[in-house]
Amino acid sequence: MESHEVKAYGTEAVNVPLHSMHIKRRALLAHDVEIEILYCGICHSDLHQIKNDFGGTMWPIVPGHEIIGKVTRAGAHVEKFKAGDLAGVGCIVDSCGKCESCKDDLEQFCDEEVTFSFNSPDKYLGGSTYGGFSETYVCNERYVLHVPATLDLASAAPLLCAGITVYSPLKHWQAGPGKMVGILGIGGLGHVAIKIAKAMGAHVVVFTTSPSKVEDAKRLGADEAVLSTDAEQLKKYVRIMNFIIDTVSAKHDVNTYLNLLRHDGSLVLVGLPPEPLEIAAFSVVSGRHSFSGSNIGGISETQEMLDFCAKHNIRADIELINIQQINEAFARLQKGDVKYRFVIDMASLKTN
Ligand code: NAP
Ligand code: ZN
Repeated sequence: MESHEVKAYGTEAVNVPLHSMHIKRRALLAHDVEIEILYCGICHSDLHQIKNDFGGTMWPIVPGHEIIGKVTRAGAHVEKFKAGDLAGVGCIVDSCGKCESCKDDLEQFCDEEVTFSFNSPDKYLGGSTYGGFSETYVCNERYVLHVPATLDLASAAPLLCAGITVYSPLKHWQAGPGKMVGILGIGGLGHVAIKIAKAMGAHVVVFTTSPSKVEDAKRLGADEAVLSTDAEQLKKYVRIMNFIIDTVSAKHDVNTYLNLLRHDGSLVLVGLPPEPLEIAAFSVVSGRHSFSGSNIGGISETQEMLDFCAKHNIRADIELINIQQINEAFARLQKGDVKYRFVIDMASLKTN
């Protein structure tokens, strides 16, 4: 099918720094919109993929799935958007629309395999989908979100992945008044989780390995913050948490946190440590605990999350960078040296 070239930043192999390149975007189909990308967040999943942590990276790769921009063109049959509208694209850009999961608005679990905004097979152009580290994005309007005008665009970009990834399990496991909700790891996902859980009315306890984040967690809205490397501090929380959202990106001991759950509590994994985690029998049989997981969220829930964040004035704490700083940003993200999300000002892509 017809296509045109746009500028992007990507790489062809592990350890090759990201650099300027050209990629193809398809000609608009009847239900497609074209978005000029204004801001794109940098998620740890982008880092996992450029390191090929999960073994499935398709090269070349152009990461980026926390996309906010303006609609520049709309296909002939587009109903939801017109040129000039603000628009967001997160992780999902296509699904079968027919299976039980899609009918339940859970496109992320589509039986036919969901198409992600980057590093998925591209049904139209062949090769793989290319993400938001680029000038434009083209996709079906069904997967495009309305961005409430009251949100600050740069600090709203991370909501498209980090926001929905924590909003969905917080809602599913019913964060709210009277609930002790734990957040494990204060990175991009964790810091937004604190704000959303608090806005839902829960009592929020944060578990962090970083001493510098203990005080900061309270500024972000946590009721209590615990240095998780200090076993003494953890003792106070044994058997009192209703559920804990685990956002940790590397292998860690989940048994420590399963033991903090009250009976019938859940440890909900959203982080994606590349190595398998080990669970001791007594961590789950005692107290009928569940070890569970959650993956982003469906399109309608993503819209609901954006509207919720606009209503409660929730935004990510960001460090805005130019695309030329992308490799330095990934190196810092690897070290946990960002408070709390890098967002790229995509206007910088025009300057080289
Ligand atoms: P991030 O900004 O790097 O935050 C991860 C946090 O985990 C760190 O800030 C750190 O928090 C903690 N951590 C890192 N290494 C650790 C270790 N070895 N032991 C204990 N704690 C450690 O990453 P992110 O963007 O929030 O993403 C977090 C994870 O979620 C990644 O694996 C990402 O791929 C995944 N993810 C999953 C989904 C999904 O839908 N399931 C969606 C998006 C992202 P402290 O300093 O507070 O300890
Ligand atoms: Zn992500």
